[in-house]
Amino acid sequence: MEIIDSIDKIKTVITEFQSKGKTVALVPTMGKLHKGHEELIKNGKSRADVTVVSNFLNTIQFGLNDRMEKYPEDLEQTVKVCEEGGVDILFMPETKVIYPQGFSTFLQEESVSKKLSGPSRPHLFKGYATSMVILMNIVRPRYLVLGQKDIHQTSVIKKIVKDLRYDTEIVVNPIVRDENGVAFGISNAYLEDAQRAEARKLYEGILRAKKMVDGGTRSVERIIAEVTHHLGQSFRLRIVYVAIVNPETMEAMLTIVPGESLLMISVWLDQVRLNDNGIL
Ligand code: AMP
Repeated sequence: MEIIDSIDKIKTVITEFQSKGKTVALVPTMGKLHKGHEELIKNGKSRADVTVVSNFLNTIQFGLNDRMEKYPEDLEQTVKVCEEGGVDILFMPETKVIYPQGFSTFLQEESVSKKLSGPSRPHLFKGYATSMVILMNIVRPRYLVLGQKDIHQTSVIKKIVKDLRYDTEIVVNPIVRDENGVAFGISNAYLEDAQRAEARKLYEGILRAKKMVDGGTRSVERIIAEVTHHLGQSFRLRIVYVAIVNPETMEAMLTIVPGESLLMISVWLDQVRLNDNGIL
């Protein structure tokens, strides 16, 4: 595996691969790799000749209230996961390489990113989208492998790729969960045992909703009421939203379409923000 931190170098290496007709998959991460990332890497490897993992803590997507310090650098672990996963290139640019002094261009998707918690998290989607197009412009991947875990961000990137005619296919990898059903992620890593038991409620809520749909329920209101009730049984959970949306547009759906409607849950568990989702 080659570890690269410069844009010129990675462009040269990628151009060489592409000139030989090889396809490239890019798996963008912010480091602190876990089982969720490992599955994304496997997914990329199954599609492309060359798999690139980027490890870049995208500072501009964090607002004042977001906890960036939760992402401590763990280079050894990152290298280990990538090597064991058969990654070809680990791209680890410094912040100043991606955003040099005087950087002043940001990408704002105007529709999908404005739904749900979009308006209250103005930095997130603009910052995420800006970093993704920069990474795509550098790596020029045939496949961009993203997680359903961050489905709202993933849907924003899908829209950008469509609107700006990127020649890249977005691959959405299913959510990887721990034995309690809690999605692996930066928030999960910091949960105490007692909190983890409460965090289970999100996945339980998704399973309940799915069961209702399988049983014939098509009323969005009834499902939202049931999930809200289930989450409400934990006195530590504070609901930010429970919504049923179209996964492409993030617009509220009026009725359930089995296999298409997306249940989105966002809560605070004490000081930890948890998001989860599932197709019903
Ligand atoms: P992050 O490093 O948190 O920015 O995540 C990098 C990519 O991994 C994103 O596309 C996430 O959606 C995806 N991801 C993170 N956690 C999981 C998980 N538990 N299951 C599947 N994908 C995940």
